[in-house]
Amino acid sequence: MVKKGRVFSGARPTGRQHLGNYLGAVKNYVALQDDYECVYCIVDVHALTTVDTTENLQDNTIEMAIDWLAAGIRPEETIVFVQSHVPQVMELHTYLSMVTPLGKLTDLPTFKDMVRQHPDNVNYGMVGYPVLMTADIVLYKADIVPVGIDQAPHVEFSRETVRSFNYRYNTKVLIEPQIKHTEVLKVLGIDGREKMSKSLNNHIELAATPEETTKRVREMVTDPARQRKTDPGNPDVCNVFSMHKIFSPKAEVDMINVECRRAGIGCVDCKLRFANNLNSHLEPFRARRAEIAAKPNYAQDVLHDGAKRARAIAEQTIVEVREAIALPK
Ligand code: SF4
Repeated sequence: MVKKGRVFSGARPTGRQHLGNYLGAVKNYVALQDDYECVYCIVDVHALTTVDTTENLQDNTIEMAIDWLAAGIRPEETIVFVQSHVPQVMELHTYLSMVTPLGKLTDLPTFKDMVRQHPDNVNYGMVGYPVLMTADIVLYKADIVPVGIDQAPHVEFSRETVRSFNYRYNTKVLIEPQIKHTEVLKVLGIDGREKMSKSLNNHIELAATPEETTKRVREMVTDPARQRKTDPGNPDVCNVFSMHKIFSPKAEVDMINVECRRAGIGCVDCKLRFANNLNSHLEPFRARRAEIAAKPNYAQDVLHDGAKRARAIAEQTIVEVREAIALPK
């Protein structure tokens, strides 16, 4: 089948994936493979801007890759690789940094956020983060970058950087990536307040056992105004209900929507129903994950093969970029 173009997306190596990662990104990664040639990168170099220790970096990379593969990423057609395995990205980053005004970088809200979050480690890498991100995208000649509304300015920055480079060297060698707006679900954690995240320990891991999953679901915060089973609840403000809408059959969702409001169903029962539906949904994923994890070095081999294919594209781009700049031969 003829594909519509090349998609690039990168994600930090955060280890085992949780429901928020799955619904917010991985599910979409899997779906995009049907229509696009996909390049998915585990951005370990980006992670160095903010990590305190690299102790778990290798494990986190492999665990994340296993989850991606178990979720349906097809490595025979999709390139999955680790950012640092293709060092050409650092070279392109340097060239792009010469056409990027410093003030533009320090004015970016994402840079200001990083400074706020890591006041004791404001490093040079943080400033250049969007430039490295641009290098990631354009090195592989990606046409399309799938992003949620709030990420669109990053790709806009990349487009401007490409235009500056092409103008500065009077070339068309770099491709301006197009934004593909994607609905990114904001998944709340079990606290029902913050976005699901490992660092906040409010997450539900995809690879958890059914028992662990049920235990986590039992801890989920529901409608805070509903104190007793006899109080009517409001599913519209309840995170358990939001999850039911994603993972439960429509008839069950409709029933809860009615019964909760008239105190016909209790939260314990409602959560157990969700846990059961979630566990059924994750069963095939868990089986595939166990199979992949049992094959020694399989995920590592996939990443190495992906890097080889990514390098082939990157080497060609770098040759063209050097020529465009007119660097000495
Ligand atoms: S019954 Fe379900 S939807 Fe209603 S408040 Fe309890 S957990 Fe939420």
